[in-house]
Amino acid sequence: MDDEHESRWTIQKSADQYQIRGWGHPYFTINEAGHVQVVPDPERPQHGIDLFELVNDLDARGLELPLLLRFSDVLKDRIKRINECFNKAIAEYDYKGVYRGVFPTKVNQQKHFIEEVVEFGAPWRVGLEAGSKPELLIALAAEQEPGGLVVCNGYKDQKYIETALLAQRFDKTVIVVLERIEELEFTLRAFKKTGIRPCIGVRAKLGAKGVGRWADSVGDRAKFGLTTSEIVEVVDKLAEREMLDCLQLLHYHAGSQLSSIISVKNAIREAANIYVELAKMGTNMKYLDVGGGLAVDYDGSKSDFHASKNYNIQEYAYDIVAAIAEACTKAEIAHPTIVTESGRAIAAHQSVLVFEIVGKNEVRFGTPQDPGPKAHKVLRQLYETYQGIQPKNLQEAFHDASQNKEEADSLFKFGYLTLRERAQAEKLFWACCERILEAAKKLKRVPDEVIQLEQMMAAIYYGNFSVFQSIPDSWAIDQLFPIMPIHRLDEEPTVKATLADLTCDSDGKVDRFIDIEDVKHVLPVHTFREEQRYYMGIFLNGAYQEILGDLHNLFGDTNAVHVRLDAEGGYELGHFVKGDEIREVLSYVEYEPGVMIERVRRQAERARRQGLITFDQVKLLMKHYEDSLGSYTYLTADE
Ligand SMILES: *Cc1c(COP(=O)(O)O)cnc(C)c1O
Repeated sequence: MDDEHESRWTIQKSADQYQIRGWGHPYFTINEAGHVQVVPDPERPQHGIDLFELVNDLDARGLELPLLLRFSDVLKDRIKRINECFNKAIAEYDYKGVYRGVFPTKVNQQKHFIEEVVEFGAPWRVGLEAGSKPELLIALAAEQEPGGLVVCNGYKDQKYIETALLAQRFDKTVIVVLERIEELEFTLRAFKKTGIRPCIGVRAKLGAKGVGRWADSVGDRAKFGLTTSEIVEVVDKLAEREMLDCLQLLHYHAGSQLSSIISVKNAIREAANIYVELAKMGTNMKYLDVGGGLAVDYDGSKSDFHASKNYNIQEYAYDIVAAIAEACTKAEIAHPTIVTESGRAIAAHQSVLVFEIVGKNEVRFGTPQDPGPKAHKVLRQLYETYQGIQPKNLQEAFHDASQNKEEADSLFKFGYLTLRERAQAEKLFWACCERILEAAKKLKRVPDEVIQLEQMMAAIYYGNFSVFQSIPDSWAIDQLFPIMPIHRLDEEPTVKATLADLTCDSDGKVDRFIDIEDVKHVLPVHTFREEQRYYMGIFLNGAYQEILGDLHNLFGDTNAVHVRLDAEGGYELGHFVKGDEIREVLSYVEYEPGVMIERVRRQAERARRQGLITFDQVKLLMKHYEDSLGSYTYLTADE
């Protein structure tokens, strides 16, 4: 292979660089134009949408970035996929029960989203799970298929339970899951008051240890769930009142993002046995609800790393169906309806946040000037270090440069260096670092310190978005999301950067990115040019992020739009949800725009009377002030 050929950048190299084949399959790829291509319906792979062109089209229509794109067909495919996997497992294991998924509302309560879950879930009779009173109200208002399942979890009061019982009179199957022993009393009282026999479930605290970040969701000290003795107490109390027939469901939740199939298997084995025991106690058990936890492969590594998972949906379904079948068949108990509450695995893939890079801060020094023989000793030393840098002495050179730099800082502190000299030392130091990094590219094994240097020297790319609003879990729990440019992928990304958002919070940044192993601290990006727009995408962010997002620095909800494939393979825009205006976020914190305008106008008038400001200046100020109130909270293009 000749040199030129070898060095030519290709979209395949970009695909490797950003690991899109791992996490993106089958919905995201790179097309010939070097743009991210969305394949919303994997059964129609020929109908792709060029993400870059889509964003440009939307921008031309006035839908400003940052923009959250929801691909409805991806959601539909996720729902279909999980149902088909369970149905396949049920057929192969000759399982006698059925599978009924419920969507946990807390993962994304947006109205249009929940409506799509209900719409796409209809052929599979997908139900809803509520974890609070407001979510119960959402679930009850949903236009589900007749008999639609509603599973009521979370902390409950008397009204919650009474509402749930009354709703059993609708054409819905509403099950109240006891998460705390106190809820049994509430339920019995609600029965007395309404005369409606409750359909009861119990949430078990499993002994099996969870793994990973949500390991605490299980075990005896878990926040929710009944211990074995409490479950027995429920059975006894129901038996006393001749209400054993009311107990129909066993639920557990082993934690979210279960990266290892071992924890899935351990949990279901234990739960299946509890189920069998409950059935033997004369209850009316019909449902085994295995909760959520089905993980998403955010880094595409197919491993048990916390950002990944070492199993696929089919294996998950096989293991659950097999364990329940085995335990029930052995005990000669009817196979239950299997319920799962997968949230992340259904919601994550369908949305993409696209934002624009608006600026950069890059440390580039190039060849430094010789400070000359009369310069301070420390400057001459730094320059010598610079000149002596070679691939075989990188570590030593880095130590020398760092030592010289420290010395320069301390000399300045005690008054022996001028500000100008200190600046010169700083430049020489960074020039050394730059040269060391450059030389390190030729090495097979790079010393650890030099790897850290890469991070220190990384450019900062400023994005028109808020980490706190759009990927709060990146900040709160160091969750990793795949992030990459959505165009120029036929061009080598020669810059290593971290990302900073618009908030003035130093935590408003992303400096942990997916990697083949573990995490990397810089993201390869393309050179940023002022005159050319540069778009980045944050992928797989459809679960939890929207509702956990907050108004830090008063950056509000982003614009969001639903995109659906049409019959011809083009796309049509569904709901457009306009992001917050400044006026709206101000009103969340109790400000009244009218009063604010009035106060600013009064100050402007005063300044004008004192001759400090002209009429035209007042006019311009008031126009900006009033226009801003009605504008997007993010940066917008000049008109
Ligand atoms: C959060 C939660 C879920 C959803 O979990 P995922 O990991 O997103 O699938 C399901 N059930 C309960 C009880 C939960 O608290």
